[in-house]
Amino acid sequence: MVNKISGTTTFMGLLGNPVDHSKSPIIHNTAFEALGLDHVYMAFKVEDGKLNDAVKGLKALGSKGGNITMPYKTKIIEYLDEISPEAKIIGSVNTIKIDEDGKVTGYNTDGKGFVKSLEEKDVEFKGKKIVIAGAGGASKAIAIQLAFDGAGEIVLFNRTLENAISIADNINKNIPTCKASARIMNEEDLVEEIEDSAVLVNCTSIGMKESIDQAIISSPSQLPSDIFVADIIYDPEQTKLLKIAQEAGCKHMNGLKMLIWQGAIAFKIWTDKDMPVDLITRDIFGE
Ligand code: NAP
Repeated sequence: MVNKISGTTTFMGLLGNPVDHSKSPIIHNTAFEALGLDHVYMAFKVEDGKLNDAVKGLKALGSKGGNITMPYKTKIIEYLDEISPEAKIIGSVNTIKIDEDGKVTGYNTDGKGFVKSLEEKDVEFKGKKIVIAGAGGASKAIAIQLAFDGAGEIVLFNRTLENAISIADNINKNIPTCKASARIMNEEDLVEEIEDSAVLVNCTSIGMKESIDQAIISSPSQLPSDIFVADIIYDPEQTKLLKIAQEAGCKHMNGLKMLIWQGAIAFKIWTDKDMPVDLITRDIFGE
């Protein structure tokens, strides 16, 4: 790869802090190489107060854009010239494109990546009811994109009720074709709501390292067998929730394809080319 960098190579940059565990450089550099594109992707740790300078730096150095990660997904909006409709409603940007004339446009591909991974599994969600656990950044992007793309009803459960209310209010105000509501996280109510739902999505961090033995549902008997269960966590590959879903005979998926597709959608925005998603999934993630 290093040998292929020349005087004509352009770069995309990830701006965030921290960035050292990001999978984006390996995903995009593998895709650039596979398609023979003269680009390179670098991750940049941007210190507090330096985001504007970092964006100016990308522009000055002729970058085509890049990704924005924590803690700058909202802050970046101040430095954009344009924002896509869904990113505007979500209030958060994970991808920027820089035109030849220096115009910076912001997008959010997290929710689109999730929807694409759902579609890939042939999950029918249009007009249907979806239950989402969690009301953080990922939940917001996913809930708003699902509403945008035709979900009939979304019920958000969260430990901190006001965060779920804020997402539900946002959907009801901006996307009236979808009815959204918020409830405090509680297994009994969650089980009641999923009875007539097509999809259950875990957008909480329950099931990751510190809470690897925990799940939003405690046993397979709580899950209707025809519900599709998505956990957006991809490390571990199979969370406790997904083990329970498997035992209950439910179709399910983890967050790996969401991660890859949010990158593929950003890749298309920068290069106008399709990322070789199957190659990335196989060669980088061994699936
Ligand atoms: P975030 O903004 O920090 O939100 C975390 C969410 O989890 C909040 O709703 C929080 O509730 C809830 N939560 C955390 N600990 C909890 C606990 N002990 N009990 C109940 N609720 C708890 O994080 P995020 O960026 O949305 O990410 C959430 C998860 O999605 C992470 O596991 C992350 O790895 C994963 N993710 C995956 C992808 C992908 O591409 N597959 C992309 C982004 C994120 P409160 O509001 O009450 O704090």
